[in-house]
Amino acid sequence: MINVLSKLPNLSNSIFSTMTALANECGAVNLSQGFPDFDCSPRLIDLAQFHMKKGHNQYAPMPGVLQLREKIVEMVEKQQGAVYHPEREITITAGATQAIFTAIASIIRPDDEVICFDPCYDSYAPAIDLCGGMVKTVSLLPNDFSINWDDVKKLFSHKTKLIIVNTPHNPTSATLTDFDMNQLIKLTQGTDIFIISDEVYDKVVFDGKKHISVASYPDLRERSFVISSFGKMFHITGWKVGYCLAPEKLTAEFRKVHQYLVFSVNTPVQYALADFLADEDEYLSLNKFFQEKRDFFSNALRTTPFEVLPASGSYFLLANYEKISEKSDLDFTKELTIRHGVATIPLSVFYKTRLDKHYIRFCFAKKHETLEKAVEKLVHIKQV
Ligand code: PMP
Ligand code: GLN
Repeated sequence: MINVLSKLPNLSNSIFSTMTALANECGAVNLSQGFPDFDCSPRLIDLAQFHMKKGHNQYAPMPGVLQLREKIVEMVEKQQGAVYHPEREITITAGATQAIFTAIASIIRPDDEVICFDPCYDSYAPAIDLCGGMVKTVSLLPNDFSINWDDVKKLFSHKTKLIIVNTPHNPTSATLTDFDMNQLIKLTQGTDIFIISDEVYDKVVFDGKKHISVASYPDLRERSFVISSFGKMFHITGWKVGYCLAPEKLTAEFRKVHQYLVFSVNTPVQYALADFLADEDEYLSLNKFFQEKRDFFSNALRTTPFEVLPASGSYFLLANYEKISEKSDLDFTKELTIRHGVATIPLSVFYKTRLDKHYIRFCFAKKHETLEKAVEKLVHIKQV
């Protein structure tokens, strides 16, 4: 029998796969894994088909189809006022997950320390572990999941190599502000510390607020990999196309890894996205589109014993269930799926410490009728 010494001994299937499988098994309304249950624009599908028929079916250039890189750079300049060179400072990736892994692999060596926030998205730590890096976590503040920058400063050491930020934030829906960016500038000025800024929900910010990107701050831009994803932007999580913006020196290192990890990304889809980006209403309308869903769902949840937290961006919201059950959040999400027919994600899985304060995450990127169906089930849940 071969003996396998796992490089990631503490990992099993992700909670997203687990809860989606359980939802399917039980016929539950699936508000767990973050993906829309409505389709993307038919025009985008026509464009992909058009480019397949046109013969765009062989390898794309390693950094991505130039037309797409040019369109993204134009969009970023318009939205964030940040200028990136389409040939030397952007790479098209197989989703944000690959971009995050590639950026980490291109800079992290054994014993380098990486500052992450607790809770955070689940793909960061395994990538750091695989490179031999050490995850150092700073807890987000309990009331609104904002950052205490003094806590970040306390974690700094001569080994600190990278800070990973995420705005809008999955799973808490918190967003970073101009104040946060200035704190980040103060902390990193004069150092060789890199930043990965995971901005996959950059088009989904609510209540008239503007997305604040590290790209807009020259002092941060020079040390940052800014990562986003078309999965979230155009309701195509299954197409797995994203991108990484970074200054030339960082992009050069990023591409050394990218070249041997995937080499290049789905060609016809890149051409289709380049054409589709010409109509900026396709992404400018997203804030309103998702805000209506957030408002409908959070107002409905407020008529139940769940205590809903404010959500300022992304397509998730958190709710506390202490008035309903004393179970662990993992057990509670299982019970909610099996007994009440609504699947969600327990918040503790996003914490390195597995901190459980009885919160669950709902994904509201769903058809109106799906959200209504979930509400019909949730309103019957009684306070204990
Ligand atoms: N970062 C965050 C914060 C996410 O929520 C997700 C999941 N959509 C990703 C990265 C991965 O994105 P992609 O599906 O494009 O790999
Ligand atoms: N980003 C999605 C979420 O947070 C899940 C992506 C995945 O399943 N890996 O639900």
